[in-house]
Amino acid sequence: MNPSTTRPHVVIVGGGIAGLAAAFFLRDEPVRVTVLEGSPRLGGKLSVSEVAGVPVDEGAEALLVTRPEGTGLIAELGLAGDRVAPGTTSSAIWTLGALHPLPRRQFMGVPSDLAELNRSGVVSGAGAARASQDLELPPTAREGDVPVADFVGARFGAEVVDRLVDPLLGGVYAGRSAELSFDATMPALASASRRHRSLAEAAGSLLPSPPPSAPVAEQDRAPGGTRSGGSVFTSLAGGLGQLPAFLAKASGAEIRTAAVTRALSPAPNAPDSPAGQGPGPGWRLTLGSAASEELIHADAVILAVPARPAARLLAGVPGASAAVAAFGEISYASMAIVTLAYPRSAFPGASSAGGLATLGWSGYLVPAVDGRTVKAVTFSTVKWPHLTDPAPGAAPLEIVRCSVGRIGEEAVLQRADEDLAALAAAELAAATGVHGAPVAHRVTRWGGALPQYTVGHLDRVARIRAAVATQPGLAVCGAAYEGVGIPACVATARAAADRVTEFLRVGRQ
Ligand SMILES: Cc1cc2nc3c(=O)[nH]c(=O)nc-3n(C[C@H](O)[C@H](O)[C@H](O)COP(=O)(O)OP(=O)(O)OC[C@H]3O[C@@H](n4cnc5c(N)ncnc54)[C@H](O)[C@@H]3O)c2cc1C
Repeated sequence: MNPSTTRPHVVIVGGGIAGLAAAFFLRDEPVRVTVLEGSPRLGGKLSVSEVAGVPVDEGAEALLVTRPEGTGLIAELGLAGDRVAPGTTSSAIWTLGALHPLPRRQFMGVPSDLAELNRSGVVSGAGAARASQDLELPPTAREGDVPVADFVGARFGAEVVDRLVDPLLGGVYAGRSAELSFDATMPALASASRRHRSLAEAAGSLLPSPPPSAPVAEQDRAPGGTRSGGSVFTSLAGGLGQLPAFLAKASGAEIRTAAVTRALSPAPNAPDSPAGQGPGPGWRLTLGSAASEELIHADAVILAVPARPAARLLAGVPGASAAVAAFGEISYASMAIVTLAYPRSAFPGASSAGGLATLGWSGYLVPAVDGRTVKAVTFSTVKWPHLTDPAPGAAPLEIVRCSVGRIGEEAVLQRADEDLAALAAAELAAATGVHGAPVAHRVTRWGGALPQYTVGHLDRVARIRAAVATQPGLAVCGAAYEGVGIPACVATARAAADRVTEFLRVGRQ
């Protein structure tokens, strides 16, 4: 008897990091796993390709080591030896006409050392004076969830919000602090702020020593904020975009690309439904066009897709309307990554030995109030020194990733690739003095890139999870829930894999 026909069938919809990690976590279970990825390519927001002959990530490029889930996955895949550490993670803020150091003593942009804030030059003298009122002001009342900008602004004033907190949130969520939820994007700080009158003190109570100085989603910080030694970030020598292919292979799952799942419904208890292998009638998934429909039976299903497709799929599931409604409230920001390659000599003062690294930063963030198009820049060859190794006989290159597009700025993404690349190059020249045109460029567009954890997000996720919990053998995972960073996505994948495993195990008894 072929065991593949007797083992319960788990179908995972979505072949991004969450879906593939869930498949990997099921590899030793007595189940048959199929991953259905709608696009022709696996990996979702993870992808790597060459720019000027150098493999550079197109999407996610850095993984936090302060949570175990991402590095643990890399180790389980046998790739720990391929890990690379950043050359530096110090960031700058390009504002008020110059690059200023991002204060080290800050938590998601919320300063804990107001003297350091003043020295940094990120805010004006008046802005720094207003920020220091945080130490004197009476407690700021707040009921329920509020926008980050409201609470932080009440304590420190508008400049800290505009020039520090908003750019950091823009870097992580492509979102705006006036909409993003304090409770969802900074849960530890929101909680600490209830114990400390001063928000600077609350931020200080959470900072490791020394603190990370690059944008880090709070859900990805270690509990208590400590580091695991060395840098808080890691990547893979060939790019994080290699992870999907490794996961797919190691999972042993059947992987199908260009397999858009159009509908999901409880399986009818019909004779054509191979029910009986699992604990119930299971699920029916519909693929293909209406003219040539393909039906797949599953005993359990993991939806590892963004909110919109998840809502569409759950629309066919009786009893899931609360989840459908909550998914409908989660909006997504679109963005583009413009990757530019320059000869090292194009950067003023960049000696061929030191290069762009002589600036001392891994990149910079740009406040929206400064009216620029690019919101964040990573000096990839500085952050990841292994990328600087030139081909034999070739002149060294500097590679820079420019991030374009905050929520509500979709119009700029309509521009042609050449325009976006020219715009990014012009702003980079204004910030760094780089001269001449890049020798190569690549524009990667990410439609629906990042879910917006706006006010009420925690409640929305609770409603989704409660509705999904009523559905036998159904689980959800991915960036829409408890964190957009890879470790947080992997954590939801592990929980989803555990949920379906438990469901099928109980059913077997
Ligand atoms: C530009 C960018 C840079 C980032 N940088 C970092 C970083 O440095 N570090 C970090 O930790 N995080 C980073 N992130 C965030 C992180 O990469 C993402 O949050 C994470 O990869 C999301 O994974 P996911 O599996 O939840 O979703 P996705 O990657 O969106 O995968 C979902 C998959 O589902 C598929 N799908 C959708 N609908 C269907 C359907 N009906 N049928 C079948 N398949 C379907 C999609 O095609 C997609 O492949 C970045 C994100 C972006 C956009």
